Amino acid sequence: MQVVTSTQDMQRIADATRASDRRIGLVPTMGFLHEGHMSLVEAIRESCSLLALSIFVNPMQFGPSEDFTAYPRDIDRDLAMAEARGCDLVFLPSTDEMYPDGFQTSIDVRTLSLPLEGEFRPGHFRGVATIVAKLFNIVKPHVAVFGQKDAQQSILIRRMARDLNLDVDIVIAPIVREPDGLAMSSRNTYLSPDERAEALAISRSLHAAEALHAGGCRDALEISAAVMAELNRTGRIKVEYVRIVDADALVPIQAFDPRQAALVAVAARVGTTRLIDNTILNRTAMP
Ligand code: AMP
Repeated sequence: MQVVTSTQDMQRIADATRASDRRIGLVPTMGFLHEGHMSLVEAIRESCSLLALSIFVNPMQFGPSEDFTAYPRDIDRDLAMAEARGCDLVFLPSTDEMYPDGFQTSIDVRTLSLPLEGEFRPGHFRGVATIVAKLFNIVKPHVAVFGQKDAQQSILIRRMARDLNLDVDIVIAPIVREPDGLAMSSRNTYLSPDERAEALAISRSLHAAEALHAGGCRDALEISAAVMAELNRTGRIKVEYVRIVDADALVPIQAFDPRQAALVAVAARVGTTRLIDNTILNRTAMP
């Protein structure tokens, strides 16, 4: 497995790979890899012949009071894991390599950036869109994969790729959960054992939404109230939002349309750790 730290070297490898008619697949990550990330590797393994994974904790997508410095990092473990899972290449640039002096350009996916995470993390998606566009220009993938875990991010990247005519297939892969339901996340490492137990209310709350919907409820207010009730049951979770939105446009849904997939998105703090999770109702209507 090759480890590439320079953008120029990476572009040279990408050009040579493309010139020999090989397809490049990219799994963008911030590292501290877990099985959720590995599921993304598996999701595109068959559709590319150079399987690249990038590791970059992107300062531009963290707010001033967020956890950029504290974000968990373990490069040796990540590289061993990527190699064991058959990645061909890891792109591991430094912050200076990605944001050299004088850097001043950004990408705004205007409307999709505003709700949900955008309300609580202003500027976050400008950072995400900008770094993903840069990674696409550096690694030059034919296919790139993103997790449904960060549903708004996946939708926004797909929009950006269309809007900017980026010649990359965007694959969205399902959420990988721990056996007890907790969505895998690098940030789970912040949780104390008690907090981890409390955090299970998040996936339970999404199950409550799925159960109500499966039972025929089509009233978004009733479903979000049930999600909120489950989250508030222990009184130790601070809910930032529960939203039910169209799974493509991210606009609020009141009454379900059978032709519409609905994203139920939750953000909550357990202690000081901010977690997000979601589920999709009426998935068969996904665009
Ligand atoms: P991150 O390293 O947290 O920026 O995540 C990198 C990619 O992995 C993103 O596309 C995430 O949506 C995806 N991802 C993170 N956690 C999971 C999970 N539990 N299941 C599936 N994909 C995930």
